[in-house]
Amino acid sequence: MQKEVNALAWMSTSDFFEEFCLQISKAVQGQFSSTLIPVFNLTGTVVHTNLGRASLPAEAVESMVTAATHATNLEYDLSSGKRGDRDSHLERAICEMTGAEAATVVNNNAAAVLLVLNTLALNKEVIISRGELVEIGGAFRIPDVMESAHCTLREIGTTNRTHLKDYAAAISDDTGLLMKVHTSNYEIRGFTNSVPESELSKLAQERDIPFVSDLGSGSLVDLRQFNLPYEPTVSDTVEMGADLITFSGDKLLGGPQAGIIVGKRELIERVKSNPLKRALRVDKITLAALLAVINIYKDPDRLESRLPMLADLARPVAEIEKIAARVIVPISERLVEKAVVTMQTCKSQIGSGALPLDLMESRALCITPIAEKGKTDEALQRLSSAFRALPKPVIGRVSDGRLLFDLRCLRDVDEFLGQLDDLSGLD
Ligand SMILES: *Cc1c(COP(=O)(O)O)cnc(C)c1O
Repeated sequence: MQKEVNALAWMSTSDFFEEFCLQISKAVQGQFSSTLIPVFNLTGTVVHTNLGRASLPAEAVESMVTAATHATNLEYDLSSGKRGDRDSHLERAICEMTGAEAATVVNNNAAAVLLVLNTLALNKEVIISRGELVEIGGAFRIPDVMESAHCTLREIGTTNRTHLKDYAAAISDDTGLLMKVHTSNYEIRGFTNSVPESELSKLAQERDIPFVSDLGSGSLVDLRQFNLPYEPTVSDTVEMGADLITFSGDKLLGGPQAGIIVGKRELIERVKSNPLKRALRVDKITLAALLAVINIYKDPDRLESRLPMLADLARPVAEIEKIAARVIVPISERLVEKAVVTMQTCKSQIGSGALPLDLMESRALCITPIAEKGKTDEALQRLSSAFRALPKPVIGRVSDGRLLFDLRCLRDVDEFLGQLDDLSGLD
């Protein structure tokens, strides 16, 4: 700032004053500008938790703005003029989509699991297969969540094989519920056995205890219609008789961060009367976005064009190749003598613990730094940090001494190319 002010010394008084104000305003803006900014996700992981997961459709954004800038009937029943229930707005739409009796919404799926466990199995045992004790992204680990919810983990079976008789033998007066957790980010292959939801719900019903299924991603539609791998849908799981089902709002649903709980009305009512529900509930803005996204599902034919997450997942390779063809020359020219840029086939993944082994064919820009022997790593670091330092940072992934930009999620090509001139720090 001092430097700029000194440089103003020769100006006329009015110019000086104008320029001085401009510099002050810039300095103040710099001080208060947000640290949370948009980035280009070229990592090849579509639903990337560290990059904020799903991008919302325009309809959801519009609903959020309306909810944020107005008073709303969030918890107000317009027909009776009395206090209403914030879950009522979503409940009908979710139940229609999933065939469930009742539904409620909380801050995220981790909160949904915690709330369900704490409501139905406080100081009791939760029976779960050894093969399903998953850790999702470090902070969410099933054994730890059980402990926080004040439940006792009762693991049964073995890592690779668990049978119905293992569940049956573990049920006692101390049992709070039977639980099945989607293994999300890993798969056990080979000599394996797990018990299908339909059999677990039958057993649970016979022994009069609830059966809870944590789906993790929880798709509302069969993804095979978009040439994507099969992922159990929420309605399949409802049909198989799970008493409560938990899933995320911002994974395969493509909505805002939220955790959705659907299932038997009596159990949902118990969940809603847990004091923790108040602490974990969603605000009107999230609710507005989620409602808009779920409404989009009512028109399945237009889903792919209206839901950005699904558009990215289902983007045809031919379209990704066209994007590659547009960007490869400008990037090569910009990096001339610094790096060699080629196009290569690569695999994108869905991310966020959905279908970890099912990869989608894609195309990447492969940027190999030109450096003296022994200095490749350093050059690679310089290259990736230069792209990360752009006004809209470009996040790729480093593999085998090269920087890869998977182009599946590159939507605004002009914006991407437009900032190449700002690349610096490459020398
Ligand atoms: C992702 C996931 C969670 C946690 O969901 P968040 O939306 O990240 O809170 C819980 N259980 C399973 C099986 C998951 O895949």
